[in-house]
Amino acid sequence: MELDSDGDDGMSKNREMNWLYQYQEVRRRQSKAEKELEQLLADHSLNPLANKLRSLAGKMASCEEAISNWRKKMKRWEEDRAGLRYHREEAEKDLYGGKITSPKELTQLEKKIAEYRQAEERIEEEILQAMYDVEEKEKELACLQKEAAGLKKELVKRQAELEGKRSALQKEVAALEKEGAQLAALLSPEWKARFDRLCERMNGVVLAPVKDKTCGYCHVLVSAGILEKARRGGAAPPTCENCGRLLVIL
Ligand SMILES: [Zn+2]
Repeated sequence: MELDSDGDDGMSKNREMNWLYQYQEVRRRQSKAEKELEQLLADHSLNPLANKLRSLAGKMASCEEAISNWRKKMKRWEEDRAGLRYHREEAEKDLYGGKITSPKELTQLEKKIAEYRQAEERIEEEILQAMYDVEEKEKELACLQKEAAGLKKELVKRQAELEGKRSALQKEVAALEKEGAQLAALLSPEWKARFDRLCERMNGVVLAPVKDKTCGYCHVLVSAGILEKARRGGAAPPTCENCGRLLVIL
């Protein structure tokens, strides 16, 4: 079996660096997704919309109450009016029935009838005014209902969007977690421990692939000697003189 010019050890170490790099990138994606998820879970951007809906619901309830109060009053007035009409008609029967002949009594009766009529007219006015007020309130209520329905639709839509994003991120985090665990299982315990230790203070980036002779993390030019060391690969990658990341060529 022919060996790579690096030799078997060099090749397997480069393979390990490759896994380590993949592991690092998966963990970084996971941490990014977790942060996004955290932000989404703490998202309060729909609160103003929900508050607006609550305030509309309050206004609608007070409209409905006013309408119901007007209707109750109207019902009472209509009963009063019916009572007045009954008494007036009874008085009219007396007036035109021919039973009462005394002019004084007849005058009194006429006066009474006129009073009933006036009272009926006053109530009629009240009822008409109330009908108008109810109509106005009903218009107002219809406007509020329309506005609330629109907002409700918007809120439901945006809640669904948010929920969709959340569940997609949760799935992504779970998949990355699994992928990371699979990669971690390929790493030697020594490298895994070293990586985890460095990870802490290097903000999640321990390995930096060399790109165009520069450090893939801080983009500072890598000296020829270090570049050569990185090319050789192996168990001890050189570090970037600027940021201290381990330089690898993958
Ligand atoms: Zn660097």
